[in-house]
Amino acid sequence: MSKWPKRIWALFWMHVDRNGTGCWNWNAYVHPLGYGKFTIDRPHSNKKLTKMAHRLSWEFFNGRIPKNLCLDHLCRNRKCVNPEHLELVTLRENILRGIAPSAQQARQTHCKNGHRLQGGNLYIFKNKRECKICRSINQKIWQKENRLYINKKQREYRRNKNALA
Ligand SMILES: [Zn+2]
Ligand SMILES: [Zn+2]
Repeated sequence: MSKWPKRIWALFWMHVDRNGTGCWNWNAYVHPLGYGKFTIDRPHSNKKLTKMAHRLSWEFFNGRIPKNLCLDHLCRNRKCVNPEHLELVTLRENILRGIAPSAQQARQTHCKNGHRLQGGNLYIFKNKRECKICRSINQKIWQKENRLYINKKQREYRRNKNALA
């Protein structure tokens, strides 16, 4: 898939909304099951080719998905195509995660915002299990607040300097 011409990928990325802090939401056709779908004209044929958007995004960055594996949404937002929110798992694992009792899920395998605390999303810090998606969102908020604070300090500094001159 990564061998597709640039213009097709450009078309693909036009349907992705990356303005939020975490998830990259697919804003074109969404399948009733919640997954984004991308359709293109098949070259040298009048048939169309339809693929799941999150799988395409993952393949764009990481290469082909091995046949026996599927992608699990760590953020539980099926419209999301952020490769950092996707994890390659076996089909069996994916089914097991889906049917785990919800109380147990909430306690052990999900953060307070419902992201899966597993695989690429699990960050262990001082023996605590933390969620990478939430960490990066919090970091972005912190950086933003911090920038406002620094700007304010700089303004104060300049004002004081001018007052002394
Ligand atoms: Zn996501
Ligand atoms: Zn989280």
